[in-house]
Amino acid sequence: MADDTFRQVFEAAPNAMIVVAAGGRIALVNAQAEKIFGYQRDELIGMPIETLIPERFRAQHAAYRDRFAGDPQLRAMGAGRELFGRRKDASEVALEIGLNAISTVDGPFVVASVIDVTERRRAKAEAQDLRHELAHLSRVVTVGELMAAIVHELAQPLAAIRTNARVAVRAIAGGDHNADELHAVLEDIVADSRRADQVIHHLRSLLTKGEVERQPLLLNSVIDNVVSVMLSEARRRRVSIDLDLAPRLPAVSGDRVQLQQVLLNLILNAFEAMVEVTERRRVVTLRTRTVDDTRVQVDVADNGPGIADDRLGSIFKPFVTTKPSGMGMGLAVSHSIVQAHEGQLWAGNAAGGGAVFHVVLPAIRDTPAP
Ligand code: ADP
Repeated sequence: MADDTFRQVFEAAPNAMIVVAAGGRIALVNAQAEKIFGYQRDELIGMPIETLIPERFRAQHAAYRDRFAGDPQLRAMGAGRELFGRRKDASEVALEIGLNAISTVDGPFVVASVIDVTERRRAKAEAQDLRHELAHLSRVVTVGELMAAIVHELAQPLAAIRTNARVAVRAIAGGDHNADELHAVLEDIVADSRRADQVIHHLRSLLTKGEVERQPLLLNSVIDNVVSVMLSEARRRRVSIDLDLAPRLPAVSGDRVQLQQVLLNLILNAFEAMVEVTERRRVVTLRTRTVDDTRVQVDVADNGPGIADDRLGSIFKPFVTTKPSGMGMGLAVSHSIVQAHEGQLWAGNAAGGGAVFHVVLPAIRDTPAP
């Protein structure tokens, strides 16, 4: 079936080429095929093609081969799946395989063009790990900044309270206390503890005080960005992310990084809420729509356990958490970010179960999205 020209082209092909006869036996290979699979050419010729397939996929392969023979068009094998080959030494190699049918005077053959994609898949996995780390990092940065702010702002009133309390203890122990002096010291303590309290309350605005860079933003594109960063984390947690994004959503004016932070927090919370879900598909749904032509709403819904009604109000307060290692700051920070954008953030439970967080932001008028 091969004249000299064909043979030379076949040999020089950059991919491994394997020609398989109708019964599934290898009829012809090139040098690249020897190299990828580690067999000599004379070992490969006549060998069932299934020998080059890892054992766990072998059983299905004959059926695939029959189906291809019945409907032979040029196609990639296993579209959307990661394919592997088996080398002579039983090790596996990541492959991409294109199939084509030819008919010759000797009968029909299938030509498989095979590429070793080990390197490519490794690079892809690395990129995914990196995105995964980035998603975590941005949360860690928030918590880190927060810790620094708490330590700094609380240290002063706490030190003053301690000093004044010691003064009072010493005065009482010495027996020479004067009621007016003691009263003044205790007043100071009350004032300082009130200051500490205020620090905690102002923490949220303090966190969002940095440079807010306002620019017209399309929320659908902000969502796309956040989701692309979260995909590998979602896969790891076996969660699907469903998008239901309204076309032609008006732009909002805001800080891209801060709004990404809000969505990231809501999505990570949804992931964490669904950890216990084992009996149904875990889904986070992101929905956008226009409200009254003047506002844009984003809903982040999950199908986890939802939020007890009596907790719906408190979860936005700082340090409220039900997680063993939670900080209870994600929602508090998200709430103040949305408020700084003149918007609202609130939570509810969906009729079918699961929590829904709603973010509403004012739309920029007369700016229909491209
Ligand atoms: P953290 O995640 O550190 O606990 P958050 O402020 O982000 O802090 O969340 C506060 C609390 O709100 C959580 O501990 C959890 O009890 C509740 N919560 C947040 N999101 C959800 C959700 N999607 N489903 C159920 N409960 C939630």
